[in-house]
Amino acid sequence: MPLDNQSDNRSSATQAKEIDVLVVGAGFAGLYLLHRLSKLGLAVRAFEAGGGVGGTWYWNRYPGARCDVESMQYSFGFSEELQQNWQWSELFSAQPEILSYANHVADRFDLRRFITLNARVNTAIFDEASARWRVHSSTGETVVACYVVMATGCLSTGRVPDFPGIETFEGRTFHTGEWPHEPVDFAGRRVAVIGTGSSAIQAIPVIAEQAAHVTVFQRTPNYSIPSRNGPMTCEYETEWKTEYAVRRETARHTRNGILYDLNDKSALDDTPEQRERTYAERWQKGGVRFMAAYNDLALNQASNDTAADFVRARIREIVKDWAVAELLCPKDYPIGTKRICVDTNFFAAFNRPNVGLVDVRNEAIQAITPAGVRQGGRDYAVDDIVFATGFDAMTGALTRVDICGRNGQILAAKWEAGPRTYLGLMTAGFPNLFMITGPGSPSVLSNMIVSIEQHVDWIADCLAEMRKRDLGCIEPTAEAEEAWVAHVNEVAHRTLYPKAASWYMGANIPGKPRVFLPYIGGVGAYRQKCDDVAANGYEGFVMAPAVTMAK
Ligand SMILES: Cc1cc2nc3c(=O)[nH]c(=O)nc-3n(C[C@H](O)[C@H](O)[C@H](O)COP(=O)(O)OP(=O)(O)OC[C@H]3O[C@@H](n4cnc5c(N)ncnc54)[C@H](O)[C@@H]3O)c2cc1C
Repeated sequence: MPLDNQSDNRSSATQAKEIDVLVVGAGFAGLYLLHRLSKLGLAVRAFEAGGGVGGTWYWNRYPGARCDVESMQYSFGFSEELQQNWQWSELFSAQPEILSYANHVADRFDLRRFITLNARVNTAIFDEASARWRVHSSTGETVVACYVVMATGCLSTGRVPDFPGIETFEGRTFHTGEWPHEPVDFAGRRVAVIGTGSSAIQAIPVIAEQAAHVTVFQRTPNYSIPSRNGPMTCEYETEWKTEYAVRRETARHTRNGILYDLNDKSALDDTPEQRERTYAERWQKGGVRFMAAYNDLALNQASNDTAADFVRARIREIVKDWAVAELLCPKDYPIGTKRICVDTNFFAAFNRPNVGLVDVRNEAIQAITPAGVRQGGRDYAVDDIVFATGFDAMTGALTRVDICGRNGQILAAKWEAGPRTYLGLMTAGFPNLFMITGPGSPSVLSNMIVSIEQHVDWIADCLAEMRKRDLGCIEPTAEAEEAWVAHVNEVAHRTLYPKAASWYMGANIPGKPRVFLPYIGGVGAYRQKCDDVAANGYEGFVMAPAVTMAK
């Protein structure tokens, strides 16, 4: 009898008793995995918790949601036909267009047949005797697979702080990362937005245009650069499409997978007047290229200060109310060490008469009451609360699944003091379990589609090689993992990044260990390392012959 004894007509593959690879998640990572692995002739399936494909772009439907890496770059490079045919309407596309793109990819490469939607994976248990994973989903279905790939996303586990009284609130509540599918009308309503990270920075100016009043509760001010978004011009698109192959390849070897004009000198090598001109030019062009104004902004505090001063001066210029401007100016961490934000009219929104700012750094939100938010002994009456409170980043989606490896070891327990991986791809004690953009890889510090493609290609090549050599089990050694964790830490501490209490450090989740989660050595250097590991016979991994499963 098939293990999948639930009749489910959503996927023709659901009758498989045992498959080669189970993919968890159908965002960009899951989609590309299904494409690459099915092309290898492997029997694949995917479980996706959401009701559609697209991951981040399926869930994050809040007003103003869009990418902050330009669409010509924040898109797949694996198919020349795809990248030539697809047309983006804006420089930085909005969520609905990116979601359409994900759906187009699913259809174009005929991937839906592998995907079961509305299926959350709850447990995955490794059976040592058969070297197979037994994976259980919320649909009640169990799948047996040789390999499991967690394509569960780095920013897919939303977090709402447990404010006292939250359940008593009588109005509507929203989390930016789990936004309703039907349009939300804020017209005439008093809205609280809690948080001022990337999502809030995008949402606040758009909500403010509709709502009667918006009260923004800010714990940590953020540096944000204007995006200068606009319609895609024919010339710009043609320029990119003519040189796509070369540009994509170049981006793969850069520091963060994004092509922009890095000014390869120290900020301290320029005079203050030259620096001002350089920053002003980049501010005018907009976007994350601001951080490439000099090559040492992430490394040297004095250099970093010059860029941070420039951005603070712009905030003070834009925001008319002196006290509000001061609150919006980040002052206690270097620019870029928390995710740099990219906005459209964020700071200017605070000049509107219907937008107010409340500082919750020194006096935290005391409670959510039936009528609104209580802070500093004052009650803010609101109709709606938008939680822009971020995610349990990088590890949340992995540790929330009950993953049980060798000797009954649970992944969440192994990672109690912080995640430990080899190359961010695998973790010792959990054979045949891969992660995409996992902790210890460049991941969220990069153009994530570049990093996703690199991980998927590496895993696909690895599985093809194992099949060729009749191998069926792969696992990193404890020593290789130890050395990689030490290297990830060592490189992070050569930079200014650990100075910020950021989600890169797990600082936004109470009780989460403070460990720098992504690998900061650069996308290009990291790719080279992964390629070298493979070329050296998968150095640091133990590979063993396949076990034939008893029928
Ligand atoms: C608002 C926002 C804007 C962003 N903008 C950019 C940008 O401009 N540039 C950039 O590089 N990156 C950006 N990112 C990061 C973005 O997450 C990645 O670029 C990319 O979309 C990640 O794709 P993924 O497939 O790895 O993960 P996701 O898109 O997060 O997909 C993971 C999927 O796995 C599913 N899943 C998780 N756990 C389970 C489970 N247990 N069982 C079944 N299914 C599960 C989830 O439902 C989800 O659909 C942004 C993120 C957010 C939140």
